[in-house]
Amino acid sequence: MRLLLFFYLLIFFYTNKLIAHELFLENKDIKHDYSHDNFNFNNGSVNDYKIASNLSGDTIFIQEQTNGLFPRQENGSKYFIADNKVTIQNEDNFLVIKSNNIPDHSLFTNNPNCAAEQSFTFKIPKVPEFLEKPIKISREIQEVGVALNGVVLSGPYDSEGKIAIYNRKIGQCGGHADPRGMYHYHYGPLCGESVNMESKQIGWAFDGIKIMNFVDRNVHNKTKIDECNGHNHDGEYHYHSTNSYPSFIGCFKARPYEANFRQKRASNSACPK
Ligand SMILES: [Zn+2]
Ligand SMILES: [Zn+2]
Repeated sequence: MRLLLFFYLLIFFYTNKLIAHELFLENKDIKHDYSHDNFNFNNGSVNDYKIASNLSGDTIFIQEQTNGLFPRQENGSKYFIADNKVTIQNEDNFLVIKSNNIPDHSLFTNNPNCAAEQSFTFKIPKVPEFLEKPIKISREIQEVGVALNGVVLSGPYDSEGKIAIYNRKIGQCGGHADPRGMYHYHYGPLCGESVNMESKQIGWAFDGIKIMNFVDRNVHNKTKIDECNGHNHDGEYHYHSTNSYPSFIGCFKARPYEANFRQKRASNSACPK
């Protein structure tokens, strides 16, 4: 009798596990996809976006000029390229992040480009070397960090030297692929594990400073968010992803690891047929 009970229990736990696993798989494609109800995307006129995309100069000035203006956004159609592959190794001086740059959530495109698998290796300094004078993110700097899912986080400018969130259209996850198939976030990210958890880290800047989750800069100001998009918060300096310019970071507060900027890209942005 006791043996029978044992088997019942075994079967119960086993099937329970199976069900949980199946649910996970069933929801795989949609479990991280985000509802955009809280965002007032596309709330400017064509002319507003034209002016905003051409702004340059001081971070605070651009923020004043674009106050309340949300990015241009357009839902794209879903496609699949590959599963997300990312490893993080803990070495002496660096965290070494190897990634195929394919996100762990659904991909959507609203432009002619689709993502291609990359083989990126980012080295994140474990001890940030804080600088006397921060390094401003110039138009030449396209990538500024890497999300925990291994996907590139972009600087504010696009390849035309304009402010990307006003000049281009982000997809429903806050990113898109470029003509060489490099998927990158400009905003959010709006899909993925860490969505909507204010205290959570979403990625690393190339200077070794954490980038924390998405906040409204006007609400989240334990200490004011500075021109680099960071602040001292509970004893640590970190950047935030914000709902306004510059999305991720406006300057590097510490020295970025140079080779992170020179990652070789695959050059294929063909969409699956
Ligand atoms: Zn872009
Ligand atoms: Zn904070």
